[in-house]
Amino acid sequence: MTSSQSAPLRVLILGGTTEANRLAATVANDPRIDAVLSYAGRTESPTPPPIPWRVGGFGGIDGLADYLRKEKIARVIDATHPFAAQMSAHAVGACAVAGVPLLALERPPWQRVSGDRWIEVDNLAAAAEALGAARRRVFLGIGRQHLKVFAAHPQHFYLVRLVDPPRAPLPLAGAEVIVARGPFDLAGDLIMLTAHRIEIVVARNAGGDAASAKIEAARDLGLPVMMVRRPFIPAREKVETIAEVLRWLGHDETPAERGV
Ligand code: NAP
Repeated sequence: MTSSQSAPLRVLILGGTTEANRLAATVANDPRIDAVLSYAGRTESPTPPPIPWRVGGFGGIDGLADYLRKEKIARVIDATHPFAAQMSAHAVGACAVAGVPLLALERPPWQRVSGDRWIEVDNLAAAAEALGAARRRVFLGIGRQHLKVFAAHPQHFYLVRLVDPPRAPLPLAGAEVIVARGPFDLAGDLIMLTAHRIEIVVARNAGGDAASAKIEAARDLGLPVMMVRRPFIPAREKVETIAEVLRWLGHDETPAERGV
């Protein structure tokens, strides 16, 4: 049987990120790849991707291993967010159990450059603690579900930027909310931080371009950034680009994908 006649490769893409959506779009028209994109189900109505998709947890390592066997998945690409540590750890465990090769597609973290005043901490609770006892004006660019750790530190003023308007009261009494969807730009974030007289920015080291403007704006304004380091994820093979994923899958990019 020639390679053009072989059955397409069954691939599971663990998603919830721009990178996963881009990968799905890239493999959508490739007859050599039969991929399914998996969402956790956090977004109410995700844009349907151009490949088959499923929603919801698998039920831990065993549940994912069962899914891989049942669906005859031959490769797993973990393209989840760098802070989705539980899903990534489960993928490492389940792929080992089921004997399925795993590759992580992970954007590089932001690197500290000259002019940055980062205070690096291990998690958001440590960030909240490190804000200190005196009242400060704090920008939180961290997502709604992570706000509650700051409720234990009500002495500060919080400016919170959220993707969706809050449907219920936030756990942070008195916080001011900006509803906006990235990507954000430097000019806009400079205005936002200045207009609200922000003194410190709290961020998780997500990496990527969509949310890096707040880090650049803090640098330009000489503001400190409480930067949460990435969580621990067990060792796995990792790449940073879709081209590398395609090579790992045994497929080079088409000329169209290379922009030729
Ligand atoms: P998490 O803590 O690592 O995962 C919690 C549980 O949610 C996992 O154990 C798994 O349940 C389920 N899950 C997570 N991602 C899944 C996926 N792609 N497909 C199926 N089930 C999934 O993850 P999280 O931080 O809550 O993030 C949830 C999703 O949002 C991820 O897919 C991630 O890519 C996306 N996201 C997260 C962030 C962030 O800041 N963490 C930011 C942007 C996007 P079972 O154990 O039952 O399988």
